[in-house]
Amino acid sequence: MLTLKSVPAFSDLVARQLTISVPCLSTRNYRRYSNKSSDKFDIAVIGGGIVGAAAARELVLRHPQLKVALLEKENRFASHQSGNNSGVLHAGIYYKPGTLKAKLCVQGMDLAYKYYDEKGIKYAKCGKLIVATERSEVPRLLDLYDRGLKNGAKDIQLLDSKGIREIEPLCRGLQALWSPHTGIVDYAEVARSYVKDFVTSGGKSYVSFEVKKFIEAESAEYPVIISDEKTLSISAKYVLTCCGLHSDTIAVLTGCPEEPKIIPFRGEYLYLVPSKSHLAKTNIYPVPDPRFPFLGVHITPTVHGRVILGPNAILAYSKEGYKYSDVNLKELKDVLAFSGFRKLAMKYASFGVKEMSRSIFIPLQIKQIQKYIQEITSADVERGPAGVRAQAMGKDGSLIEDFVFDSKPGASAIGSRVLHCRNAPSPGATSSLAIAKMIADKMEEQFKFKLG
Ligand SMILES: Cc1cc2nc3c(=O)[nH]c(=O)nc-3n(C[C@H](O)[C@H](O)[C@H](O)COP(=O)(O)OP(=O)(O)OC[C@H]3O[C@@H](n4cnc5c(N)ncnc54)[C@H](O)[C@@H]3O)c2cc1C
Repeated sequence: MLTLKSVPAFSDLVARQLTISVPCLSTRNYRRYSNKSSDKFDIAVIGGGIVGAAAARELVLRHPQLKVALLEKENRFASHQSGNNSGVLHAGIYYKPGTLKAKLCVQGMDLAYKYYDEKGIKYAKCGKLIVATERSEVPRLLDLYDRGLKNGAKDIQLLDSKGIREIEPLCRGLQALWSPHTGIVDYAEVARSYVKDFVTSGGKSYVSFEVKKFIEAESAEYPVIISDEKTLSISAKYVLTCCGLHSDTIAVLTGCPEEPKIIPFRGEYLYLVPSKSHLAKTNIYPVPDPRFPFLGVHITPTVHGRVILGPNAILAYSKEGYKYSDVNLKELKDVLAFSGFRKLAMKYASFGVKEMSRSIFIPLQIKQIQKYIQEITSADVERGPAGVRAQAMGKDGSLIEDFVFDSKPGASAIGSRVLHCRNAPSPGATSSLAIAKMIADKMEEQFKFKLG
């Protein structure tokens, strides 16, 4: 059994000089270095989004004797998916019963509300209506109700048109599913709070540390050197990666396969102008189209007093492509060359064209919204923020909906020490505290940490 011992405190120096003692091994990303001068950690968590931050927090809270680092490439935490999303706490209605998504969402929501109360994080339990506006949607709505019950989503109920109007006076629909415990929060604030807990409990956080290389160290005790290929490096016994949009790239660096590949889909939002924010008080969602992993364009109040409408789903031309002008030719070429993406694009070409048209022409998007609230017009909206979703995809074009973990036990000193969280899709933010517990369990099991 491998034992993690507590290590003495090391200096706060981040920039380190690496001494090359043995030249390159077989692949370009594996080199054996002497790491005498690096900061040393029992565990390094790479990726400071809500999942990485929650996992790092859970690991130090469970194992205060361990030295844990959290590395983030941007100059602040939660810069990507975790800071650019709908801000909804989902109740666990949509997901296939028995999946990790379903279980972790229901557990995660309970843990989240408790945590927000403890920390004084602002949230609102404003509920959610999933509304069928056409007869053809009613059977799917009833299926969702059934799923929600199986998943343990609390207090959900079916409403008729009158019931819908009692909750949201301007909303029209034939039938709806009402989820009273669905809520809203600012997930960037939540992620920052996790980082604060982590640091207060003895963890060390780094920003502006983009991990570009894993190097096999001479030291058997700290076999993994994590480097930005410039000035920064640390050494670790074990590594967890939670890199969101870059989870495929980072996994490849430790010898894991390229798939599941991450395809970036931008989701753009409109804002209701402030004078019209009173038009929606609760979340209003469509009955999702089962062919797509996206929940569809919804109306969502934010904890900051605005109402957002969206998101759509269009291919981003860069992993961090928040605007049409954000183009990364290398990443775009990589997506277009991927057989899975080409298959998906062929299959859903007309859906893609419609989404693009709605992205460019606001009135087309408003038409979608007017199915629920006719009073909202193009004059009532302005362009809002955007988020980029890390959509995991298989070679055959299948969209991977559940969480995926990967490692290469026994493959090399590095591969056997790393666990990758390769897919943490929506409702990853809702589920983050539950995901963190599962990750910590997984790391204990896989790396056989000695507890206490
Ligand atoms: C448009 C949209 C709407 C959504 N709405 C909801 C919602 O309402 N409710 C909900 O529960 N979920 C929602 N989600 C899903 C949720 O946001 C994600 O599941 C969650 O944020 C994933 O967190 P993460 O930490 O895995 O990823 P991220 O937040 O993307 O974090 C990954 C981090 O890793 C860092 N990183 C990447 N590569 C490196 C590297 N080489 N070195 C160092 N750092 C690196 C990145 O900079 C980033 O900070 C939504 C997502 C999107 C995109």
